[in-house]
Amino acid sequence: MSGDATARRDKRGGGVAPPVTLLTPVTYLKGVGPRRAELLAKLGITTAGDLLMHVPRRYEDATTVLPVARAQPGQDVTVLGRVISKGVIPTRRGLRIFQAVIQDASGLLEVGWPGQPHLDRTINVGDVLLLSGPVRIFHGRQLAPREFVNLGADDTGTAGGRVLAVYPATDGLPTKLLRQLVDAQLDALLPQITDPLPASVLAAAGVPLLADALRLVHRPGSVKEAERGRARLAFEELFCVQLLHRRANQLERSERDGITFVNRRKLTTALKQLLPFTLTGAQVRVLREIVADMTSHQRMHRLLQGDVGSGKTIVALFAALVAMENDWQAALMAPTELLAEQHVRTFTTLLAPLGIAPALLTGRMGAAQRRAAAARLASCEPLIVVGTHALVQDATSFGKLGLVIVDEQHRFGVEQRKALQAKGATPDVLLMSATPIPRSLALTIYGDLDVSLLDEKPPGRVPIVTTKRPESARDRVMTFVNTQLDVGRQAYVVYPVIEESERSDLRAATQMAEELAGGVFAGRRVGLLHGRLKGDEKDAVMRAFLAREIDVLVATTVIEVGIDVPNASVMLIEHPERFGLSQLHQLRGRVGRGGDDSYCILLGDVSPDSAERLDIFVSTEDGFAIARSDMRLRGMGDLFGERQSGLPSFRVADPLRDEAMIPVARAAAEALLLRDPALVAPEHQPLRELLTGRYRRALELFRVG
Ligand code: ADP
Ligand code: MG
Repeated sequence: MSGDATARRDKRGGGVAPPVTLLTPVTYLKGVGPRRAELLAKLGITTAGDLLMHVPRRYEDATTVLPVARAQPGQDVTVLGRVISKGVIPTRRGLRIFQAVIQDASGLLEVGWPGQPHLDRTINVGDVLLLSGPVRIFHGRQLAPREFVNLGADDTGTAGGRVLAVYPATDGLPTKLLRQLVDAQLDALLPQITDPLPASVLAAAGVPLLADALRLVHRPGSVKEAERGRARLAFEELFCVQLLHRRANQLERSERDGITFVNRRKLTTALKQLLPFTLTGAQVRVLREIVADMTSHQRMHRLLQGDVGSGKTIVALFAALVAMENDWQAALMAPTELLAEQHVRTFTTLLAPLGIAPALLTGRMGAAQRRAAAARLASCEPLIVVGTHALVQDATSFGKLGLVIVDEQHRFGVEQRKALQAKGATPDVLLMSATPIPRSLALTIYGDLDVSLLDEKPPGRVPIVTTKRPESARDRVMTFVNTQLDVGRQAYVVYPVIEESERSDLRAATQMAEELAGGVFAGRRVGLLHGRLKGDEKDAVMRAFLAREIDVLVATTVIEVGIDVPNASVMLIEHPERFGLSQLHQLRGRVGRGGDDSYCILLGDVSPDSAERLDIFVSTEDGFAIARSDMRLRGMGDLFGERQSGLPSFRVADPLRDEAMIPVARAAAEALLLRDPALVAPEHQPLRELLTGRYRRALELFRVG
């Protein structure tokens, strides 16, 4: 308390202020009063050190400017031009405006600073200005700069030279002010910074020291320099996350040795011979990875990624057989009853010749059936059970659970996945996902998992004809759908919402189902499936569609998760711009399962921006390429929330943009933990502090003693 008071007095009284350190509260900084301190706190800045870590979002420089002739009223622009005339003009209301006319190769633009006549003293004819702000109408086009840099008379502006850092700002705390605050402290603070990353790690990554990086991001000579600094900060984040992942993995493995399965090749070889097809190269490779995990003494913790239709189910079945032939039980959990039933049907058919009958456990089963299934699980009988979340309910217990498989794993929360694992002592775990993301990204998101990729589709797939049609083609599209129905095929019609909302004119599924049934599809059997139906109601509708008792299924995205209706040949999607690319891809994956031609039609007029996005989808059936584009367009946060993946949010790093750094960060993290698993060496103290200060998980993972 008394220390605070002294510091305050010094500041006010003009005495010798204590030197600013990284831990100095921002309130003690020149130019920061209580009000600004409050605003800074909103940005997460409470100390001088925080201020230093407040990194610009982007930069403006001569390479990003707009030709002045193209600056339109209503736009926010950054321009570069030489002052050819200037002056202060009074307005009728007594406000004085400093005005200048700037020129670049494209033409002239007037610039006005209301209430800032003093600029007349610092801005001269001949000076080159880099300005950004809104263009408005004020006796013609006029730029009202939010901020600007005077590059002086000599600067041609083309050499890169000065760069404008744009900071994440907040109301009342504009980027310009933040730049001033940072700039004022930079020289005093940088020498105080010690780099928390070990020299060996910095060298391996080829990135600058933290202090140098911070100078580069805050006061770059060029955008390229700024990027070098940013890369250092991004690397640090990626490296820290890898440290957490690798450490968690290490602890989990060493703490809990798993089952050492033996690859007996009895059931698996028999199944291979029974299959009506041969496994793809990717399936063989992935199976080898899985079997290697299962036969090691450590627990498997593996994510199997594969595009829709890449044949994950059969891979899961082989893994289950390995468990069974070692006298263990294997459980496959699916997100819907229908999907669980579908898997059981597939398994029953394939395994019948081997004399194996898989068990099923869902909430929908009758009490007697359920009891019978539960009794089988509770016994030590080796078996394969497929089920819904009924598998993780308290009442369900396993006699000898050795392998846990989670299908469409993103449909389950972390808790549910953990709950299933907890049904066994140390079961091996295989998670399956149909949103394929690049391996290095998977390593960031699910870093404590090993990752297998099923990057090849079974042969003989007929491509799905994908088209984008305007509203004016609606009648023709519907006629086409009818020709498919005429030859006995079925169709999906998908809408983004279920009821007409006040704000939009979106065609709602409920309303459209009625309209279609009475209109273009009069005489057809039209079914409706949406998210507000109860689970068993949904299943009933899907079952009817599967049994061909429904011709046209009008639906929201609840059909996204993998049900196989081979007779369905059309996927018609309304308001396609409302869907993410990966979502569209999942929807498209619902057709094309019968071997005949099938169609995915995006119907409706969309904005040029949306059209560009949808064209990516139309042009490829590669789920990996689509997921990548989706991530780039929507950002990682949308696709992988913290809850889902446990992924900490990054301040600087962008796993997609910084993808190339991820394997480097991972290798460096691995090498470091090999030398010092708990980071207890004195020279790793700063890194340890960084980790525990920044990540809650680190407190547990790097506990001392
Ligand atoms: P997903 O990866 O989307 O879960 P599935 O496992 O449902 O895909 O497989 C899709 C279809 O492909 C199934 O009908 C399955 O029998 C079939 N299939 C799987 N592997 C092969 C293969 N190697 N050759 C031919 N068909 C295959
Ligand atoms: Mg599947």
